[in-house]
Amino acid sequence: MDAQDLKQYIRDVPDFPKEGILFRDISPLLLNSEAVAAAAEAIAAPFRDQGIERVLGIESRGFIFGAPVAQALGAGLVLVRKPGKLPWKTHQVSYALEYGEDTLEMHTDAIEPGQRVLIVDDLIATGGTAAATLELARRCEADVAAAAFLIELEFLNGRSQLDSNVHAVLKY
Ligand code: AMP
Repeated sequence: MDAQDLKQYIRDVPDFPKEGILFRDISPLLLNSEAVAAAAEAIAAPFRDQGIERVLGIESRGFIFGAPVAQALGAGLVLVRKPGKLPWKTHQVSYALEYGEDTLEMHTDAIEPGQRVLIVDDLIATGGTAAATLELARRCEADVAAAAFLIELEFLNGRSQLDSNVHAVLKY
């Protein structure tokens, strides 16, 4: 399956979760195992020869693609989670939302200094979530290869929030 054919499995849902937001729903894609495999392959492809040692999957849809991407690259998977979910010692980074703020956490022993890492999520919108994850990676002195996404909402210019390489398979 060609990566660009994956767009047919993304469902557009107007006004979710609130008025004015066009939600890009990956649920139809997840129903198709070939589409999931092709999506993971397309996310991982540019990094096959880059010595990636850790993939950081961002809760929760980033876990879905982070796991097969980590397998494809022969890397370990790190869970970047909402507060209070991780049982061990954590680094925490808070970031601004439209209203209020949110926090992400990662285990302090998930990345060794200098390890080469790839950040993975399903979608980049404003870039705030990925920027916070980049900050978590840097707290561990990671060598960040890139942040990689299945979908980029280009009009929001989220990649300008990231001082790293950015890879996106499908652009809207
Ligand atoms: P952001 O921090 O603004 O880049 O938001 C990224 C996160 O919010 C991702 O984990 C997405 O799953 C989710 N998200 C934001 N906007 C959308 C959208 N229009 N459709 C689907 N998911 C979205």
